[in-house]
Amino acid sequence: MIKDSLQSLILELRAFSKERDWDQFHSPKNLSMALATETGELMEHFQWITETESQNIDDSKKVEVSFEMADILLYLVRMADMLEIDLIEASHQKMAVNHKKYPIALSKGKHQKYTELK
Ligand SMILES: [Mg+2]
Repeated sequence: MIKDSLQSLILELRAFSKERDWDQFHSPKNLSMALATETGELMEHFQWITETESQNIDDSKKVEVSFEMADILLYLVRMADMLEIDLIEASHQKMAVNHKKYPIALSKGKHQKYTELK
């Protein structure tokens, strides 16, 4: 299901880019920078507000936030496509790594990085 949705995004992005002759700009270097830029745009919505305020954004703010999150996903999907990386498979592999890095017995209720867990 998610894999099908991701595949449809990949195909839509390929067509969107081809129609505009933008493949020439979509190097991994440029796409990684675009990703960071969009992440900054997402963070701007939460900059200077409290944690509680960030958990209670109004509907219009939520639309703006959703568009920045979409920008991030679109660049990530595009970058994965250009590098021929299966994002779903890579994510499952990384979760397996995370399970090992953060065993429940050591990490439950703690925010420390795995290198600092005791
Ligand atoms: Mg944006």
